[in-house]
Amino acid sequence: MSRLSIGEAIQRVVGVLSDVANTGEVLQVIASTARQMMQADEGYLLLREGGRLVLRAADGLPSHLVGKTSVRIGEGIEGWVADQGELVALMDARHERRFRDLPGRTSMVRALAVAPMRLRDDVVGVLATAGMDPFPPIGSRLTGLQILASIAAVTIENDRLLEQERRRAQQAELLLELASLGVDDLVPFLQRVADAVNSALGVDDTELSLLDDLSIRVVYLVRGGSRRGHSPADLAREEQPDLTWAADLLATGQPVLCPDVTKDRILKGVFTSSRVRSLLAVPVAIGGRRRGILRVSSGLPDRFVAEDLAFLTLVASQVGLSVGRADLSRRQIQIGREEARQQARQEFLGQVSHELKTPVAVLKAYTELLLRKAEIDSHRTSDSEVLGRMLEQTDRMLSMIEQLLDLQKMETGQFALELSHFDLSELAQRVAENLQLAVKSHRILVRASGRVWVMADKRRIEEVLLNLLDNAVKYSPEGSSVEMTVGTRTGAAGGQESIVSVSDEGMGIPKRDLERIFERFYQGQGKLHRGHVGLGLGLYIAREIVERHGGRVWAESTTGNGSTFHFTVPVTPAQDDEA
Ligand code: ADP
Repeated sequence: MSRLSIGEAIQRVVGVLSDVANTGEVLQVIASTARQMMQADEGYLLLREGGRLVLRAADGLPSHLVGKTSVRIGEGIEGWVADQGELVALMDARHERRFRDLPGRTSMVRALAVAPMRLRDDVVGVLATAGMDPFPPIGSRLTGLQILASIAAVTIENDRLLEQERRRAQQAELLLELASLGVDDLVPFLQRVADAVNSALGVDDTELSLLDDLSIRVVYLVRGGSRRGHSPADLAREEQPDLTWAADLLATGQPVLCPDVTKDRILKGVFTSSRVRSLLAVPVAIGGRRRGILRVSSGLPDRFVAEDLAFLTLVASQVGLSVGRADLSRRQIQIGREEARQQARQEFLGQVSHELKTPVAVLKAYTELLLRKAEIDSHRTSDSEVLGRMLEQTDRMLSMIEQLLDLQKMETGQFALELSHFDLSELAQRVAENLQLAVKSHRILVRASGRVWVMADKRRIEEVLLNLLDNAVKYSPEGSSVEMTVGTRTGAAGGQESIVSVSDEGMGIPKRDLERIFERFYQGQGKLHRGHVGLGLGLYIAREIVERHGGRVWAESTTGNGSTFHFTVPVTPAQDDEA
């Protein structure tokens, strides 16, 4: 091997710089030129990647070591040069305390010259030559080695700048593409995002997971790069990924940027595969809630910088927006369908109730007629008992039909109040007396403290009173009393209001029912009523009526100790002729 002069060496390297587009090849030429110029057995180049120097070009060393062998910054002569930024030349390296052989090298190195690849204040790598024998007189050739190292540094820098530009352009393009991508089908969309992020950041792995709305169960998980995605069906079968490491990220929204998971107390326990050494993760917010994680990782430490974080954050917010928008339109379609179904049901109920009302009313009228006849005929006492029961049942049927018609009116906006000025005490008294005529099983008592004038819909308030009394009778044992009181009190807002309370001595209402009995169609779980099952609409309609008057209705009860239902209606001052 002929020895190259410094001039020849530089000329050769500068020559390939303009001819060869591939940086790897240029570095290869630099390594072998350095070797020839130094008349060494080996010429090689280690580049700084994270906290290590990785062998990226070599001449005279086994080629399988390239890309595999690395040393820590600060370790061995090469590591020391990278750390200190100073050239070192040793005639007998083995006697040097700092010397550490390159992992995998089998040759017996003696002479060693290592030049830092300096770029402004940074050292981006080292260019080294090694010989089994001491170098021939090297003199100014060390300057040549340093020049070659500097050329290598600039080549790397150019390459990195170019790569950065290319990546930035790719990233901008990707963001644009994501913004225009439809989310008709979630999995392909997420897969596209994961793949694109993987190539735009040039990482080893990308993982995009979407969580359940309410828990931290992963429902969608896709992976970019070589490992592929999982459909919800796969996930149902598979074990859930461990997300303990992301608890903070989901709770606070703080991204995770970890240069080395092996040095992180929590992460090292979760990411045990050698594929994950450094990691970057950001939350994905959908509809204002953090419901996903976008994570990229690399098998190398120190792989991620602030720019990567900025890019990933942009992607995550685009994913959140797109998925959120798709969620919303899906939900709108669903609500639309639900509303149409609801409306059809209401119309049907309304029509059926309306059609039923007339025949039932006719039935009731005939029954009343027959009953009256039977009552005056002493031979027909058993008939009158039967007819009495028939009348009771037709009354119940009519009241259920009325409830359904009321419900339909309320839900279709046709429920209007017809206000008049009347005395609530008097109305309560009359309703109770009428009911007592029909109900022999209970004593119905009314206590009223004088007149209570209200401006309200009399027929509707009568409906409320009747419903509360009817329930009190229905849900308490025969022979017990039902008491209704009517009075006034000062309301929460300071004004006077009327208050009606209906108490019974029944089985009471369990706490879990108490919160729900005013809901539409809700019926208590306890089946202790006295034989008559209603529709679960009475209290719902009562509440609607009371609230439309500006009042309030509520219940108090302890199981086994009876119940008291109260409702309020604002009072109006008595008119002169009524007082
Ligand atoms: P229903 O037609 O079932 O009586 P309501 O809306 O009037 O419907 O009442 C809803 C539920 O509230 C009833 O099913 C019953 O469980 C409970 N409830 C109402 N009033 C009383 C009461 N006075 N005592 C015990 N439970 C009652």
